[in-house]
Amino acid sequence: MTRVAFISHSDCGRHDTGWGHAEHVGRLRAIPRALRYDPELFMTLDHREGRHATAEELALVHDPAYVARVRATAAAGGGRLDPDTVASEGSWDAATAGAGCALDAVDLALGGDVPRSFCAVRPPGHHALRDAAMGFCLFGNVALAAHHARRTHGVDRVLVLDWDVHHGNGTQALVEHDPRIHFVSMHQWPWYPGTGAAEDRGPHDNVWNVPMAAGLAPERYVEAWEEAVDRAAEGATPDLVLLSAGFDCLAGDPLGGFTLEPEQLAGMTRRLVERATAWCGGRLVSVLEGGYAPERLGEACVQHMRALL
Ligand SMILES: [Zn+2]
Repeated sequence: MTRVAFISHSDCGRHDTGWGHAEHVGRLRAIPRALRYDPELFMTLDHREGRHATAEELALVHDPAYVARVRATAAAGGGRLDPDTVASEGSWDAATAGAGCALDAVDLALGGDVPRSFCAVRPPGHHALRDAAMGFCLFGNVALAAHHARRTHGVDRVLVLDWDVHHGNGTQALVEHDPRIHFVSMHQWPWYPGTGAAEDRGPHDNVWNVPMAAGLAPERYVEAWEEAVDRAAEGATPDLVLLSAGFDCLAGDPLGGFTLEPEQLAGMTRRLVERATAWCGGRLVSVLEGGYAPERLGEACVQHMRALL
């Protein structure tokens, strides 16, 4: 059985948004809790604590002045970074740990002997912009991981996928100028943040946005997703696959209207593993984004990790 790492960091719990906020620490706690009900999977996973990304690493995708502002806001005890996004005293340590886990997963996939990882991190990252926090996100974890793979490991092509119910506008903004990075986002439309039209193909035609109505039969999402993934890889076989795994695409999520069940996400994961195996030695790094029904999130993460094996 292939080694799969479960990468997290205790500091991710120190991003204190308050229990009234959808993106609260209970989301992350639900994952190891669900994992304990699957002792066989728990024992099989390679449990690792990630590192903290450095300010220099974050500058691969972020304006250093913005990075310094996040650090200063946390050091001052916290504050509001965007209408939806707050920082607490622990948010710098949490956000740098979240990004660092994704970097570690890339290092393991490319330099180590663990081709696949799931990073259980928060705050999420796919709305974060070069110089601003947005939509619960501080740093663009997955975009950073993509550029880290290109810059540090000399990887030629990276395929970045995003099945979070919201458009990965931050990831798109941070990767679309590199034609060797292909980006696929399937998301509810119209919905927050309002971007991600199918016609928006990026400056190099390297973006595949898949806007979808809420409330469709789940198979419709699965089919649209797989078609887009194959189109993005056609004639451009990736050397590494990164996945923004947002579990707010599950039926019943308070912040989305998709109808997917954990079984369907597990099927999508299995078929992605098959593709990654054919493309690039099975190298697939999955990083948590949204998912705001903690029990469902925990259950779906367990099935997702099983499928990664
Ligand atoms: Zn989301």
